[in-house]
Amino acid sequence: MTPELDAQLRSLVNFPSPPGVASHIIQLAQDPNIEMGKVAKAIGMDPALSTKVLRIANSPLYAQRRRSENLRQALIVLGLNATLTLALSFSLVKSLRGGKPNGVNHPLYWRRALLGASAARALGEATGQTLLEELFLAGLLQDIGMLALDKAVPDLYRDSGEMQKNHRDLAAHERKRIGGDHADVGHWLMKQWNLPERLATAIGNSHKLDNRRVLDPADGFNRCVAMSGPLVDIFVLPNDKKPFAETAQQVERVFGLDKEEFGRVIQRVSSLVPETEAIYETDLLADPEAIVDQAREVLMIRNLHAMQEISQLRDTADSLSERARELEEESRRDPLTGVYNRTYLEQYLRQEFDQASRNDWPLSIAFCDLDGFKKVNDTYGHQAGDKVLKTTAAILKNSVRRVDVVARYGGEEFVLVLPATDRDIARTVCERIVQSFQTTRHDIGPQPVSVTVSIGYATHGGGQRFANVEALVKAADQALYTAKLQGRNRFVRYEAGERAPVVQFL
Ligand code: GH3
Ligand code: MG
Ligand code: MG
Repeated sequence: MTPELDAQLRSLVNFPSPPGVASHIIQLAQDPNIEMGKVAKAIGMDPALSTKVLRIANSPLYAQRRRSENLRQALIVLGLNATLTLALSFSLVKSLRGGKPNGVNHPLYWRRALLGASAARALGEATGQTLLEELFLAGLLQDIGMLALDKAVPDLYRDSGEMQKNHRDLAAHERKRIGGDHADVGHWLMKQWNLPERLATAIGNSHKLDNRRVLDPADGFNRCVAMSGPLVDIFVLPNDKKPFAETAQQVERVFGLDKEEFGRVIQRVSSLVPETEAIYETDLLADPEAIVDQAREVLMIRNLHAMQEISQLRDTADSLSERARELEEESRRDPLTGVYNRTYLEQYLRQEFDQASRNDWPLSIAFCDLDGFKKVNDTYGHQAGDKVLKTTAAILKNSVRRVDVVARYGGEEFVLVLPATDRDIARTVCERIVQSFQTTRHDIGPQPVSVTVSIGYATHGGGQRFANVEALVKAADQALYTAKLQGRNRFVRYEAGERAPVVQFL
């Protein structure tokens, strides 16, 4: 706050100071050894105040089985601190309300003040605060700076009827005009009046909801007061401007209260309305229940939106992981024929070899190589060759079980991995494949073309064991060579101790 404004505020002669009773109560509150009798006496001097305190003590807020018949009983029910705080709020409201406003919209001001008080209290209840009456008082007085400013700067609020409805715009207007807003002035005023520091600080920070340094997370008191403003907006702004969703988000962020808990706070504020109206003799809202219904609706819609968003995100995540699976699968496949590629084959074969060795299961592998394939390419063209390779993959896949793996090793060479397959079964599979090729006709030229295959196979287990996967692969490859040397269009099993066949280059 600027020194000029400070001076201006200090020079105010007609600014209402706390009435006698309030001053007395403030004084009493500062005495740590205060006696209940003294408080009862001070309040008892003002009959209207006594009635209010009694009424509060008997209200549902403090509902006791036994009615409080007199101030002493009420004091016992309410507690000393709460009584002082409530008495203070009553007497301050009474004195401040009497003033004649310059530009402040008094009914709106008081509606905000009383709803703010209820909101601060409801938030305090929801977040486990203990100083509920102090919260009520701080909420009630948070905008008191407006009353001071209205006196100090008479034209400040003139012609600002619409703006007063929007609290944020109003504070911005004040800062522009006088270099501080009514929260700063409220803080100043609380200090002048010797009110407790906690009250002054909370009011000073009441517009600083986003200032995390000021709003110490360990001290929820300030936050409840600062958050009460946005909560009040829900009750006073016109229907089309009620910031339910925004405020719910803020409450969630600031306090960690979810939408449902926020809904309960709104409900609580509205349930405090009739009580507050009765005690302060004012009309706050035409229909507080309607606000609750509206909040419920908006928050439910928000929840639905949130749920929709979550399910959309889930769908996206699902399709992403589906795509990742597809890509991984794609990376294992040979693009031309769709069977597994050599990289995957080697990984898979190693795994199967280890498992077969550990469990003593048989494992067979077969190397299949098309006969005279170069000639197919040379005669009918590369594309025709590709077509034959695709058909080859299909024949191989149709000749084995689903658990078996067909892979393209390279060129026109394919490998079959046949887990849990002994040499006899492997033989049957190879026989079937050779026969299939013999009977298959490829439609790649003027006449149907037949392409044969040579297969070499080897079985790990069942009498023949290989030291490692490389030895098994080498054995099958060697058997394939033998098949080629023996005239092609056949299958040959690797025999242990067999020497590598002599290859003759022609
Ligand atoms: P052998 O009976 O001794 O196996 O003779 P071959 O002609 O089948 O064997 P060779 O290794 O001499 O020739 C293989 C041919 O396969 C040569 C190469 O151009 C062809 N080839 C390799 N990959 C592909 C491919 O993806 N598509 C086509 N169309 N041809 C391929
Ligand atoms: Mg070949
Ligand atoms: Mg070859």
